[in-house]
Amino acid sequence: MLNHQKIWDNCLSAIRRNVEEQAFNTWFDPIVPINYDKNVLTIQVPSQFFYEWLEEHYVHVLRDAIVDQLGEEGKLEYSIVIDKGNSKSEPYTINLPTTQRPDRKNSKEGTNTSQDKNIDDLFAYDFNLNSNYTFETFIEGDCNRLARSAGFAVAQRPGITSFNPLMVYGGVGLGKTHLAQAIGNEILQHISDKGVIYVPAEKFTQQFIESVKINKIQEFQNFYNKIDILILDDVQFLAGREKTQEIFFHVFNHLHQSGKQIIMTSDCPPKDLKGMEERLLSRFKWGLTADLQQPDFETRIAIIHKKMQSDGINIPEKVIEYLAYSVDTNIRELEGVLISLIAHGSLMKKDIDLELAKTTLKTIVHDIDAEVSIDYIQKTVSEYFHLKTEDLKDKTRKKEVVIARQLAMYFAKEYTNLSLKSIGYHFGGRDHSTVIHAVQTVNDMYDVDSRFRSSVDELKKKLKMKSI
Ligand code: ADP
Ligand code: MG
Repeated sequence: MLNHQKIWDNCLSAIRRNVEEQAFNTWFDPIVPINYDKNVLTIQVPSQFFYEWLEEHYVHVLRDAIVDQLGEEGKLEYSIVIDKGNSKSEPYTINLPTTQRPDRKNSKEGTNTSQDKNIDDLFAYDFNLNSNYTFETFIEGDCNRLARSAGFAVAQRPGITSFNPLMVYGGVGLGKTHLAQAIGNEILQHISDKGVIYVPAEKFTQQFIESVKINKIQEFQNFYNKIDILILDDVQFLAGREKTQEIFFHVFNHLHQSGKQIIMTSDCPPKDLKGMEERLLSRFKWGLTADLQQPDFETRIAIIHKKMQSDGINIPEKVIEYLAYSVDTNIRELEGVLISLIAHGSLMKKDIDLELAKTTLKTIVHDIDAEVSIDYIQKTVSEYFHLKTEDLKDKTRKKEVVIARQLAMYFAKEYTNLSLKSIGYHFGGRDHSTVIHAVQTVNDMYDVDSRFRSSVDELKKKLKMKSI
């Protein structure tokens, strides 16, 4: 018998692989499966906003997971908790089935072995561009001015400017994929008969490997030789892959000689690309290399405004400034924080104000620093001593349990921001003096007992690994 909890747990494992951790925690953790009947899985979401957000941003991920679990007939139904703002009235739920799943080509039917896989399977991959990634939504700032205007010039006259190839490089989350796709989208809007192909270098590599397996290298090469505009994302992925580089070299030459446009992105400048053939690297430098830098404060503000506008959300100016001020690493992270903030507001039924922004940011920055959580500490320590996590929380006074418990408390004090009181709370409601005692004991034993010391050091390593 299929049970809703089990089905949903399986869905979650698949979803977890497909979305970023922060998004997973924000949007999928709070979901509760409540029923399964006649191919329909019902999940409860905390608010209307949640439902809309999931349907807008994660509908494919959800659908794929559901189809994997329940087959093509499977359906998802949302039960939305409506809070009428009156604490006495019970929340009531409304059910909304997801829109019908569009038929996908080449879905998992039959049992294709690699022999009868044909070249269509190889290119069944969706080369389409994300329509949100346009120049219109790409905010210009000092950090990206050159790359952006070169990209725009290329989009107006692909293959004709001297920016061929155009190589955009920059750290994670700084807009490489967005800009590269904006070029593709712009071309499709103005010169629509061009064949634009966007492909991550990782995908390109996989396709090549597949084509070797089924003896279709020539077809692979023909496919890419026919393209008018090739966008190869994250080219650093080709490092060390000689055969893929070789085929790319030929494709590159063919396209370049035929006046076709090549756009590439990379996480570092070409000269720092390791494991790349020299002849390929020298070609990367033929056109223009432009970098994306970390956005400055004003650009961050502008990006938040743009994002709010496109998602139809309203946030006070003070909060925007606070966010722009606090998150200066990259744009993906900035967007992540903004989204979490909205989700928190919606979850807690609160207006978004500075206070909420501060608490939200604290929990996230926690995640960003990847500080270890108390759960993780308890799990790691109990596994190390071959105990159950519950043992750490119950009353047992067995020596090995006591030591493990004290160690876990000690690490909780060292590695989390929790107060002594809440650490005690997480260990079966012990009081703060027990925690102080544990920390003291561990410190003392560490100094005198060398075996204990090496256990502590080993555990430290395990916990640190997690925080890298
Ligand atoms: P990268 O490919 O460099 O890792 P992405 O292109 O995926 O980064 O960008 C991460 C996120 O930041 C995307 O959601 C993208 O839309 C957004 N973003 C990046 N640069 C800008 C920009 N200049 N203006 C608006 N949004 C941006
Ligand atoms: Mg990218």
